[in-house]
Amino acid sequence: MARSTKFIFVTGGVISSLGKGISAAAIGALLESRGLRVNFLKLDPYINVDPGTMNPLQHGEVYVTEDGAETDMDLGHYERFTHTQTRQVNNCTAGRIYYCVITKERRGDYLGGTVQVIPHITDEIQLVFREGAQNCDVAIIETGGTVGDIESLPFLEAIRQFRGKQNRGDVINIHVTLVPYIKTADEMKTKPSQHSVAALREIGIQPDILLCRGERDLPMDIRKKLALFCNVDEDCIFGARDVESIYMMPTYFRSQNLDGKICELLNIWTKEPDVKPWEDICEIIRHPSRTVRIALVGKYVKLHESYKSLIEALNHGGYANDCKVSLSYIDSEELESLSEEELSEVLSPVDGILVPGGFGVRGTEGKIRAVRYAREHRVPLFGICLGMQMALVEYARDVCGWADANSSEFVPDSSHPVIHLMASQENVTEKGGTMRLGAYPCKLLEGSKAREIYGKREISERHRHRYEVNNDLRGALEAAGVVFSGTSPDDSLVEIFELKDHPWFVCTQFHPEYQSKPTAAHPLFASFIRASIEHGK
Ligand code: GLN
Repeated sequence: MARSTKFIFVTGGVISSLGKGISAAAIGALLESRGLRVNFLKLDPYINVDPGTMNPLQHGEVYVTEDGAETDMDLGHYERFTHTQTRQVNNCTAGRIYYCVITKERRGDYLGGTVQVIPHITDEIQLVFREGAQNCDVAIIETGGTVGDIESLPFLEAIRQFRGKQNRGDVINIHVTLVPYIKTADEMKTKPSQHSVAALREIGIQPDILLCRGERDLPMDIRKKLALFCNVDEDCIFGARDVESIYMMPTYFRSQNLDGKICELLNIWTKEPDVKPWEDICEIIRHPSRTVRIALVGKYVKLHESYKSLIEALNHGGYANDCKVSLSYIDSEELESLSEEELSEVLSPVDGILVPGGFGVRGTEGKIRAVRYAREHRVPLFGICLGMQMALVEYARDVCGWADANSSEFVPDSSHPVIHLMASQENVTEKGGTMRLGAYPCKLLEGSKAREIYGKREISERHRHRYEVNNDLRGALEAAGVVFSGTSPDDSLVEIFELKDHPWFVCTQFHPEYQSKPTAAHPLFASFIRASIEHGK
Protein backbone atom coordinates (compact mmCIF):
# COMPACT_ATOMS: atom_id res chain seq x y z
CA MET A 1 0.00 0.00 0.00
CA ALA A 2 1.33 3.40 -0.88
CA ARG A 3 2.13 5.38 2.21
CA SER A 4 1.27 9.04 2.30
CA THR A 5 4.16 11.49 2.25
CA LYS A 6 5.19 12.99 5.55
CA PHE A 7 6.45 16.56 5.72
CA ILE A 8 9.20 18.13 7.77
CA PHE A 9 9.39 21.91 7.60
CA VAL A 10 12.69 23.41 8.67
CA THR A 11 12.73 27.06 9.66
CA GLY A 12 15.50 29.20 11.11
CA GLY A 13 15.55 31.72 13.90
CA VAL A 14 17.70 34.49 15.41
CA ILE A 15 20.38 34.74 12.71
CA SER A 16 21.23 33.26 9.33
CA SER A 17 24.13 30.85 8.77
CA LEU A 18 23.02 28.48 11.53
CA GLY A 19 23.51 25.50 9.28
CA LYS A 20 19.85 24.87 8.47
CA GLY A 21 20.79 23.35 5.13
CA ILE A 22 23.32 20.99 6.67
CA SER A 23 20.87 20.06 9.43
CA ALA A 24 18.16 19.30 6.86
CA ALA A 25 20.64 17.26 4.81
CA ALA A 26 21.90 15.35 7.87
CA ILE A 27 18.32 14.55 8.92
CA GLY A 28 17.75 13.31 5.37
CA ALA A 29 20.82 11.09 5.65
CA LEU A 30 19.57 9.58 8.89
CA LEU A 31 16.07 8.94 7.55
CA GLU A 32 17.62 7.35 4.47
CA SER A 33 19.75 5.16 6.72
CA ARG A 34 16.46 3.86 8.12
CA GLY A 35 15.35 2.81 4.66
CA LEU A 36 13.09 5.80 3.97
CA ARG A 37 13.01 7.63 0.65
CA VAL A 38 13.57 11.33 1.22
CA ASN A 39 13.23 14.36 -0.98
CA PHE A 40 13.98 18.01 -0.37
CA LEU A 41 12.64 21.41 -1.24
CA LYS A 42 14.49 24.66 -0.61
CA LEU A 43 12.47 27.86 -0.53
CA ASP A 44 14.36 31.10 -0.99
CA PRO A 45 12.70 34.38 -0.12
CA TYR A 46 14.46 36.61 -2.67
CA ILE A 47 12.90 37.97 -5.87
CA ASN A 48 15.40 36.56 -8.39
CA VAL A 49 13.69 33.75 -10.30
CA ASP A 50 16.77 31.63 -9.64
CA PRO A 51 20.28 32.34 -8.33
CA GLY A 52 21.80 31.84 -11.81
CA THR A 53 22.43 35.52 -12.42
CA MET A 54 23.72 36.29 -8.93
CA ASN A 55 27.37 37.06 -8.20
CA PRO A 56 28.88 34.09 -6.33
CA LEU A 57 30.58 36.55 -3.99
CA GLN A 58 27.13 37.58 -2.74
CA HIS A 59 25.23 34.36 -2.62
CA GLY A 60 27.80 31.57 -2.80
CA GLU A 61 27.92 28.96 -5.51
CA VAL A 62 25.13 28.19 -7.94
CA TYR A 63 24.38 24.48 -7.78
CA VAL A 64 23.40 22.90 -11.08
CA THR A 65 21.03 19.92 -11.08
CA GLU A 66 20.84 17.08 -13.60
CA ASP A 67 17.94 18.75 -15.40
CA GLY A 68 19.91 21.97 -15.76
CA ALA A 69 18.34 24.09 -13.04
CA GLU A 70 20.55 26.75 -11.46
CA THR A 71 19.75 26.41 -7.80
CA ASP A 72 20.67 27.30 -4.26
CA MET A 73 23.76 25.62 -2.91
CA ASP A 74 21.79 23.84 -0.19
CA LEU A 75 20.66 21.43 -2.92
CA GLY A 76 24.31 20.45 -3.14
CA HIS A 77 24.27 19.50 0.54
CA TYR A 78 21.10 17.48 0.02
CA GLU A 79 22.68 15.52 -2.84
CA ARG A 80 25.97 15.01 -1.01
CA PHE A 81 24.30 13.68 2.15
CA THR A 82 21.69 11.46 0.49
CA HIS A 83 20.94 9.63 -2.75
CA THR A 84 18.27 12.13 -3.72
CA GLN A 85 18.65 13.58 -7.16
CA THR A 86 17.29 17.10 -7.03
CA ARG A 87 15.70 18.95 -9.95
CA GLN A 88 14.20 22.35 -10.71
CA VAL A 89 11.12 21.50 -8.63
CA ASN A 90 13.30 21.13 -5.54
CA ASN A 91 14.22 24.82 -5.37
CA CYS A 92 11.82 27.69 -5.47
CA THR A 93 12.29 31.40 -4.90
CA ALA A 94 9.73 34.05 -4.05
CA GLY A 95 10.53 35.47 -7.49
CA ARG A 96 9.53 32.23 -9.19
CA ILE A 97 6.26 32.10 -7.21
CA TYR A 98 5.37 35.66 -8.17
CA TYR A 99 6.42 35.01 -11.77
CA CYS A 100 4.00 32.04 -11.95
CA VAL A 101 1.15 33.93 -10.33
CA ILE A 102 1.64 37.00 -12.53
CA THR A 103 1.84 34.81 -15.65
CA LYS A 104 -1.46 33.17 -14.67
CA GLU A 105 -3.01 36.57 -13.99
CA ARG A 106 -2.01 37.86 -17.45
CA ARG A 107 -3.36 34.70 -19.04
CA GLY A 108 -6.69 35.41 -17.39
CA ASP A 109 -6.72 32.49 -14.97
CA TYR A 110 -8.03 34.66 -12.15
CA LEU A 111 -10.36 36.70 -14.37
CA GLY A 112 -12.55 38.94 -12.25
CA GLY A 113 -10.59 38.34 -9.06
CA THR A 114 -8.21 40.53 -7.11
CA VAL A 115 -4.91 38.70 -6.97
CA GLN A 116 -3.50 38.74 -3.43
CA VAL A 117 -0.73 37.29 -1.28
CA ILE A 118 -3.37 35.27 0.54
CA PRO A 119 -4.69 33.13 -1.09
CA HIS A 120 -2.97 33.33 -4.51
CA ILE A 121 0.67 33.47 -3.52
CA THR A 122 0.22 31.11 -0.57
CA ASP A 123 -1.75 28.63 -2.74
CA GLU A 124 1.01 28.68 -5.34
CA ILE A 125 3.57 27.98 -2.61
CA GLN A 126 1.53 24.99 -1.43
CA LEU A 127 1.49 23.63 -4.98
CA VAL A 128 5.27 23.87 -4.90
CA PHE A 129 5.35 21.89 -1.62
CA ARG A 130 3.53 19.05 -3.40
CA GLU A 131 5.65 19.17 -6.53
CA GLY A 132 8.86 19.13 -4.51
CA ALA A 133 7.61 16.24 -2.41
CA GLN A 134 7.16 13.72 -5.20
CA ASN A 135 8.32 10.11 -4.95
CA CYS A 136 9.29 10.06 -1.33
CA ASP A 137 8.23 8.93 2.13
CA VAL A 138 9.45 12.10 3.80
CA ALA A 139 9.78 15.54 2.23
CA ILE A 140 12.12 17.91 4.01
CA ILE A 141 11.19 21.50 3.19
CA GLU A 142 13.64 24.18 4.23
CA THR A 143 12.71 27.86 4.26
CA GLY A 144 15.58 30.24 3.67
CA GLY A 145 15.84 33.41 5.70
CA THR A 146 15.11 33.98 9.36
CA VAL A 147 11.75 34.05 11.13
CA GLY A 148 10.84 37.69 11.54
CA ASP A 149 11.96 38.72 8.04
CA ILE A 150 9.26 40.43 6.00
CA GLU A 151 10.34 38.39 3.00
CA SER A 152 9.69 34.92 4.43
CA LEU A 153 6.19 35.71 5.68
CA PRO A 154 4.25 34.28 2.69
CA PHE A 155 6.24 31.03 2.95
CA LEU A 156 5.53 30.70 6.67
CA GLU A 157 1.85 31.51 6.14
CA ALA A 158 1.73 28.81 3.46
CA ILE A 159 3.26 26.33 5.91
CA ARG A 160 0.64 27.24 8.50
CA GLN A 161 -2.20 26.75 6.01
CA PHE A 162 -0.72 23.54 4.64
CA ARG A 163 -0.31 22.08 8.08
CA GLY A 164 -3.95 22.72 8.84
CA LYS A 165 -5.01 20.68 5.80
CA GLN A 166 -2.91 17.60 6.63
CA ASN A 167 -3.62 14.82 9.07
CA ARG A 168 -2.15 15.17 12.53
CA GLY A 169 1.17 13.38 12.63
CA ASP A 170 1.90 13.94 8.95
CA VAL A 171 3.68 17.28 9.35
CA ILE A 172 6.23 18.55 11.83
CA ASN A 173 8.18 21.77 12.16
CA ILE A 174 11.81 21.80 13.17
CA HIS A 175 13.06 25.21 14.20
CA VAL A 176 16.81 25.77 14.09
CA THR A 177 17.80 28.43 16.55
CA LEU A 178 20.84 29.93 18.24
CA VAL A 179 21.74 29.36 21.88
CA PRO A 180 24.78 31.60 22.35
CA TYR A 181 27.37 31.08 25.04
CA ILE A 182 28.19 34.30 26.86
CA LYS A 183 31.70 34.08 28.17
CA THR A 184 31.54 36.72 30.88
CA ALA A 185 28.42 35.13 32.38
CA ASP A 186 29.74 31.61 31.67
CA GLU A 187 26.24 30.77 30.56
CA MET A 188 24.25 29.73 27.51
CA LYS A 189 21.39 32.08 26.82
CA THR A 190 17.90 31.03 25.81
CA LYS A 191 16.33 34.47 25.29
CA PRO A 192 17.01 34.78 21.53
CA SER A 193 15.36 31.37 21.01
CA GLN A 194 12.42 32.34 23.18
CA HIS A 195 11.84 35.42 21.03
CA SER A 196 12.26 33.53 17.81
CA VAL A 197 9.79 30.82 18.80
CA ALA A 198 7.37 33.52 19.99
CA ALA A 199 7.61 35.14 16.53
CA LEU A 200 6.93 31.77 14.89
CA ARG A 201 3.93 31.12 17.13
CA GLU A 202 2.57 34.56 16.34
CA ILE A 203 2.38 33.42 12.71
CA GLY A 204 0.58 30.31 13.89
CA ILE A 205 3.36 27.73 13.79
CA GLN A 206 4.27 25.86 16.94
CA PRO A 207 7.62 24.12 16.49
CA ASP A 208 7.69 20.42 17.37
CA ILE A 209 11.46 20.17 17.61
CA LEU A 210 14.14 22.73 18.42
CA LEU A 211 17.66 22.30 17.06
CA CYS A 212 19.87 24.53 19.13
CA ARG A 213 23.03 25.69 17.45
CA GLY A 214 25.79 26.74 19.79
CA GLU A 215 29.43 26.36 20.67
CA ARG A 216 28.66 23.72 23.31
CA ASP A 217 26.35 20.86 24.17
CA LEU A 218 23.10 21.89 25.79
CA PRO A 219 23.10 21.44 29.58
CA MET A 220 19.96 19.99 31.19
CA ASP A 221 18.87 23.25 32.86
CA ILE A 222 19.00 25.11 29.55
CA ARG A 223 16.96 22.39 27.90
CA LYS A 224 14.36 22.65 30.67
CA LYS A 225 14.19 26.41 30.34
CA LEU A 226 13.77 26.24 26.56
CA ALA A 227 11.03 23.63 26.98
CA LEU A 228 9.13 25.79 29.42
CA PHE A 229 9.34 29.05 27.48
CA CYS A 230 9.03 27.67 23.97
CA ASN A 231 6.31 25.16 24.73
CA VAL A 232 8.34 22.31 23.27
CA ASP A 233 8.75 18.95 25.03
CA GLU A 234 12.08 18.57 26.75
CA ASP A 235 12.94 15.47 24.76
CA CYS A 236 12.27 17.39 21.55
CA ILE A 237 15.08 19.84 22.18
CA PHE A 238 18.33 18.82 20.50
CA GLY A 239 21.80 20.24 20.48
CA ALA A 240 23.50 21.26 17.24
CA ARG A 241 26.91 22.23 18.48
CA ASP A 242 29.79 23.22 16.23
CA VAL A 243 31.61 20.15 14.98
CA GLU A 244 34.88 19.71 13.11
CA SER A 245 33.27 18.70 9.86
CA ILE A 246 29.76 18.90 8.45
CA TYR A 247 29.95 15.15 7.79
CA MET A 248 29.93 14.54 11.54
CA MET A 249 26.37 15.86 11.78
CA PRO A 250 24.55 12.62 10.91
CA THR A 251 26.30 10.63 13.65
CA TYR A 252 26.07 13.57 16.05
CA PHE A 253 22.30 13.82 15.59
CA ARG A 254 22.04 10.03 15.71
CA SER A 255 23.79 10.00 19.11
CA GLN A 256 20.91 12.14 20.41
CA ASN A 257 18.33 9.98 18.59
CA LEU A 258 16.95 12.95 16.68
CA ASP A 259 15.93 10.60 13.87
CA GLY A 260 14.10 8.35 16.32
CA LYS A 261 12.16 11.30 17.69
CA ILE A 262 11.25 12.49 14.18
CA CYS A 263 9.93 9.03 13.27
CA GLU A 264 7.96 8.88 16.51
CA LEU A 265 6.34 12.28 15.88
CA LEU A 266 5.57 11.39 12.28
CA ASN A 267 4.30 7.95 13.19
CA ILE A 268 6.76 6.14 10.97
CA TRP A 269 8.00 2.62 11.63
CA THR A 270 11.38 1.83 10.15
CA LYS A 271 14.30 -0.53 10.46
CA GLU A 272 17.19 0.40 12.74
CA PRO A 273 19.38 3.08 11.18
CA ASP A 274 22.70 2.04 9.66
CA VAL A 275 25.16 4.90 10.02
CA LYS A 276 28.34 2.86 9.44
CA PRO A 277 29.29 4.77 6.25
CA TRP A 278 29.08 8.05 8.22
CA GLU A 279 31.08 6.60 11.10
CA ASP A 280 33.78 5.55 8.63
CA ILE A 281 33.96 9.07 7.18
CA CYS A 282 34.24 10.57 10.68
CA GLU A 283 37.11 8.19 11.43
CA ILE A 284 39.04 9.31 8.32
CA ILE A 285 38.38 12.97 9.11
CA ARG A 286 39.63 12.54 12.69
CA HIS A 287 42.68 10.42 11.89
CA PRO A 288 43.88 10.94 8.32
CA SER A 289 47.12 9.15 7.40
CA ARG A 290 48.53 12.18 5.62
CA THR A 291 47.89 15.71 4.41
CA VAL A 292 48.02 16.97 0.85
CA ARG A 293 48.32 20.65 -0.07
CA ILE A 294 46.14 21.88 -2.92
CA ALA A 295 46.01 25.39 -4.36
CA LEU A 296 42.66 26.66 -5.58
CA VAL A 297 43.48 29.47 -8.00
CA GLY A 298 40.29 31.42 -8.62
CA LYS A 299 38.65 34.77 -8.67
CA TYR A 300 36.00 34.30 -6.00
CA VAL A 301 38.37 33.06 -3.27
CA LYS A 302 37.31 35.76 -0.79
CA LEU A 303 34.07 33.88 -0.23
CA HIS A 304 34.80 30.19 0.11
CA GLU A 305 31.09 29.41 -0.30
CA SER A 306 31.52 30.39 -3.96
CA TYR A 307 33.38 27.11 -4.49
CA LYS A 308 31.34 24.98 -2.10
CA SER A 309 30.88 21.85 -4.24
CA LEU A 310 34.45 22.05 -5.44
CA ILE A 311 35.90 22.26 -1.95
CA GLU A 312 33.69 19.41 -0.82
CA ALA A 313 34.67 17.28 -3.82
CA LEU A 314 38.35 17.87 -2.97
CA ASN A 315 37.66 16.77 0.60
CA HIS A 316 35.91 13.66 -0.72
CA GLY A 317 38.93 12.95 -2.92
CA GLY A 318 40.95 13.21 0.28
CA TYR A 319 38.71 10.75 2.15
CA ALA A 320 39.09 8.25 -0.71
CA ASN A 321 42.86 8.44 -0.11
CA ASP A 322 42.70 8.49 3.70
CA CYS A 323 44.04 11.98 3.53
CA LYS A 324 43.31 15.50 4.72
CA VAL A 325 43.21 18.18 2.04
CA SER A 326 44.79 21.43 3.13
CA LEU A 327 43.58 24.12 0.75
CA SER A 328 45.31 27.38 -0.09
CA TYR A 329 42.98 29.89 -1.67
CA ILE A 330 44.91 31.93 -4.19
CA ASP A 331 43.43 34.99 -5.86
CA SER A 332 44.28 34.51 -9.53
CA GLU A 333 44.36 38.25 -10.13
CA GLU A 334 47.16 38.61 -7.58
CA LEU A 335 49.35 36.18 -9.52
CA GLU A 336 49.36 38.43 -12.56
CA SER A 337 51.88 40.99 -11.28
CA LEU A 338 54.29 38.50 -9.66
CA SER A 339 57.82 37.82 -10.89
CA GLU A 340 58.69 34.22 -11.80
CA GLU A 341 60.42 33.85 -8.44
CA GLU A 342 57.47 35.18 -6.51
CA LEU A 343 55.11 32.93 -8.44
CA SER A 344 57.25 29.97 -7.56
CA GLU A 345 57.23 31.00 -3.89
CA VAL A 346 53.45 30.91 -3.95
CA LEU A 347 53.01 27.71 -5.94
CA SER A 348 56.02 25.54 -5.11
CA PRO A 349 54.74 24.56 -1.63
CA VAL A 350 51.60 22.92 -3.05
CA ASP A 351 51.19 19.35 -4.27
CA GLY A 352 48.41 20.02 -6.78
CA ILE A 353 46.74 22.99 -8.47
CA LEU A 354 43.07 23.34 -9.26
CA VAL A 355 41.82 26.11 -11.53
CA PRO A 356 38.04 26.40 -11.22
CA GLY A 357 35.26 27.91 -13.32
CA GLY A 358 34.24 31.53 -13.49
CA PHE A 359 32.93 34.36 -15.59
CA GLY A 360 34.54 37.55 -16.81
CA VAL A 361 38.07 38.50 -17.69
CA ARG A 362 39.31 39.52 -14.25
CA GLY A 363 41.95 37.10 -13.03
CA THR A 364 42.09 35.01 -16.21
CA GLU A 365 45.73 35.87 -16.98
CA GLY A 366 46.60 34.78 -13.44
CA LYS A 367 44.88 31.46 -14.07
CA ILE A 368 46.97 31.08 -17.21
CA ARG A 369 50.14 31.69 -15.20
CA ALA A 370 49.15 29.06 -12.64
CA VAL A 371 48.47 26.56 -15.44
CA ARG A 372 51.83 27.28 -17.06
CA TYR A 373 53.59 26.77 -13.75
CA ALA A 374 51.83 23.42 -13.28
CA ARG A 375 52.59 22.29 -16.82
CA GLU A 376 56.25 23.24 -16.70
CA HIS A 377 56.90 22.02 -13.17
CA ARG A 378 54.90 18.82 -13.66
CA VAL A 379 52.53 19.64 -10.78
CA PRO A 380 49.13 17.89 -11.03
CA LEU A 381 46.70 20.29 -12.67
CA PHE A 382 42.94 20.04 -12.65
CA GLY A 383 41.14 22.64 -14.80
CA ILE A 384 37.39 22.95 -14.59
CA CYS A 385 35.19 24.88 -17.02
CA LEU A 386 36.81 28.34 -17.28
CA GLY A 387 39.89 26.67 -15.76
CA MET A 388 39.86 24.22 -18.66
CA GLN A 389 39.37 26.98 -21.20
CA MET A 390 42.30 28.96 -19.80
CA ALA A 391 44.49 25.84 -19.73
CA LEU A 392 43.85 25.35 -23.44
CA VAL A 393 44.59 29.02 -24.12
CA GLU A 394 47.87 28.63 -22.21
CA TYR A 395 48.87 25.65 -24.34
CA ALA A 396 47.86 27.40 -27.54
CA ARG A 397 50.00 30.42 -26.68
CA ASP A 398 53.06 28.64 -25.37
CA VAL A 399 53.24 25.41 -27.34
CA CYS A 400 51.41 26.25 -30.58
CA GLY A 401 53.00 29.70 -30.54
CA TRP A 402 49.71 31.55 -31.06
CA ALA A 403 50.65 34.55 -28.93
CA ASP A 404 47.21 36.18 -28.91
CA ALA A 405 45.20 32.99 -28.39
CA ASN A 406 42.25 33.62 -26.11
CA SER A 407 38.60 32.97 -25.46
CA SER A 408 36.27 35.18 -27.47
CA GLU A 409 34.53 35.87 -24.15
CA PHE A 410 37.51 38.13 -23.38
CA VAL A 411 39.01 39.10 -26.74
CA PRO A 412 36.36 38.98 -29.47
CA ASP A 413 38.82 39.47 -32.34
CA SER A 414 41.78 37.26 -31.41
CA SER A 415 43.34 35.57 -34.45
CA HIS A 416 43.24 32.27 -32.52
CA PRO A 417 39.95 32.09 -30.63
CA VAL A 418 40.64 28.70 -29.06
CA ILE A 419 37.41 29.07 -27.06
CA HIS A 420 34.42 30.65 -28.76
CA LEU A 421 30.65 30.87 -28.84
CA MET A 422 28.84 28.10 -30.65
CA ALA A 423 26.34 29.20 -33.27
CA SER A 424 23.49 28.12 -30.97
CA GLN A 425 24.56 30.76 -28.41
CA GLU A 426 25.24 33.61 -30.80
CA ASN A 427 21.76 35.11 -30.78
CA VAL A 428 21.03 34.54 -27.12
CA THR A 429 20.30 37.87 -25.44
CA GLU A 430 18.66 36.93 -22.13
CA LYS A 431 21.13 36.09 -19.38
CA GLY A 432 18.92 33.97 -17.08
CA GLY A 433 18.91 30.20 -17.66
CA THR A 434 20.32 30.34 -21.19
CA MET A 435 23.75 28.72 -20.84
CA ARG A 436 24.48 25.07 -21.66
CA LEU A 437 23.09 23.73 -18.42
CA GLY A 438 22.70 20.32 -16.80
CA ALA A 439 23.75 16.79 -17.63
CA TYR A 440 25.12 15.83 -21.05
CA PRO A 441 26.69 12.53 -22.14
CA CYS A 442 30.38 12.32 -22.94
CA LYS A 443 32.35 9.49 -24.56
CA LEU A 444 35.88 8.79 -23.46
CA LEU A 445 38.85 8.03 -25.67
CA GLU A 446 40.29 4.50 -25.36
CA GLY A 447 43.73 4.54 -23.79
CA SER A 448 43.35 8.02 -22.31
CA LYS A 449 43.82 8.94 -18.68
CA ALA A 450 40.18 10.00 -18.39
CA ARG A 451 39.07 6.59 -19.70
CA GLU A 452 41.31 4.86 -17.15
CA ILE A 453 40.13 7.05 -14.25
CA TYR A 454 36.42 6.64 -14.92
CA GLY A 455 36.74 2.98 -15.83
CA LYS A 456 33.96 3.28 -18.41
CA ARG A 457 33.37 4.36 -21.97
CA GLU A 458 30.57 6.81 -21.52
CA ILE A 459 29.83 9.20 -18.68
CA SER A 460 27.34 11.94 -17.93
CA GLU A 461 28.35 15.21 -16.27
CA ARG A 462 26.75 18.57 -15.52
CA HIS A 463 27.46 21.78 -17.36
CA ARG A 464 27.17 25.52 -16.84
CA HIS A 465 28.85 27.58 -19.54
CA ARG A 466 28.29 29.38 -22.80
CA TYR A 467 31.64 29.04 -24.55
CA GLU A 468 33.14 25.88 -26.11
CA VAL A 469 36.40 24.68 -27.60
CA ASN A 470 36.68 25.93 -31.19
CA ASN A 471 36.46 22.88 -33.49
CA ASP A 472 38.32 24.69 -36.28
CA LEU A 473 41.48 24.73 -34.14
CA ARG A 474 41.12 21.23 -32.70
CA GLY A 475 43.28 19.59 -35.38
CA ALA A 476 46.20 21.96 -34.88
CA LEU A 477 45.99 21.65 -31.12
CA GLU A 478 45.95 17.84 -31.40
CA ALA A 479 48.97 17.95 -33.68
CA ALA A 480 50.71 19.99 -30.97
CA GLY A 481 50.05 17.31 -28.34
CA VAL A 482 46.64 18.04 -26.84
CA VAL A 483 44.57 14.90 -26.26
CA PHE A 484 40.84 15.51 -26.53
CA SER A 485 39.93 12.54 -24.39
CA GLY A 486 36.26 13.34 -23.82
CA THR A 487 33.77 14.55 -26.40
CA SER A 488 30.03 14.61 -26.91
CA PRO A 489 28.92 11.28 -28.45
CA ASP A 490 28.65 12.94 -31.90
CA ASP A 491 32.14 14.39 -31.45
CA SER A 492 30.93 17.96 -31.93
CA LEU A 493 31.82 19.29 -28.47
CA VAL A 494 35.01 18.91 -26.47
CA GLU A 495 34.34 17.80 -22.91
CA ILE A 496 37.79 16.82 -21.62
CA PHE A 497 41.35 17.47 -22.69
CA GLU A 498 44.52 16.12 -21.16
CA LEU A 499 48.27 16.21 -21.73
CA LYS A 500 50.27 13.04 -22.26
CA ASP A 501 53.74 13.92 -21.06
CA HIS A 502 52.66 15.13 -17.70
CA PRO A 503 51.95 13.19 -14.49
CA TRP A 504 48.37 14.50 -14.18
CA PHE A 505 46.94 17.23 -16.36
CA VAL A 506 43.21 16.79 -16.88
CA CYS A 507 40.76 19.55 -17.75
CA THR A 508 37.01 19.29 -18.07
CA GLN A 509 34.45 21.58 -19.68
CA PHE A 510 31.84 20.20 -17.27
CA HIS A 511 31.68 20.45 -13.49
CA PRO A 512 32.43 17.03 -12.00
CA GLU A 513 32.24 18.46 -8.47
CA TYR A 514 28.43 18.46 -8.51
CA GLN A 515 28.28 14.67 -8.45
CA SER A 516 30.78 13.92 -5.70
CA LYS A 517 29.75 12.55 -2.30
CA PRO A 518 31.74 12.01 0.90
CA THR A 519 30.83 8.34 0.79
CA ALA A 520 31.55 8.06 -2.97
CA ALA A 521 34.23 10.50 -4.11
CA HIS A 522 34.11 11.52 -7.75
CA PRO A 523 36.76 9.45 -9.61
CA LEU A 524 38.50 12.54 -11.06
CA PHE A 525 38.86 14.11 -7.61
CA ALA A 526 40.04 10.86 -6.03
CA SER A 527 42.60 10.47 -8.82
CA PHE A 528 43.74 14.10 -8.69
CA ILE A 529 44.34 13.85 -4.94
CA ARG A 530 46.21 10.55 -5.40
CA ALA A 531 48.44 12.17 -8.02
CA SER A 532 49.00 15.18 -5.77
CA ILE A 533 50.02 12.89 -2.89
CA GLU A 534 52.53 11.23 -5.25
CA HIS A 535 53.85 14.61 -6.33
CA GLY A 536 54.32 15.68 -2.70
CA LYS A 537 56.42 12.61 -1.82
N1 GLN B 1 32.71 31.83 -18.70
C1 GLN B 1 32.88 30.54 -19.31
C2 GLN B 1 31.72 30.18 -20.23
O1 GLN B 1 30.66 30.72 -20.12
C3 GLN B 1 33.08 29.47 -18.26
C4 GLN B 1 31.92 29.26 -17.37
C5 GLN B 1 32.25 28.48 -16.12
O2 GLN B 1 33.41 28.36 -15.75
N2 GLN B 1 31.25 27.95 -15.45
O3 GLN B 1 31.87 29.32 -21.05
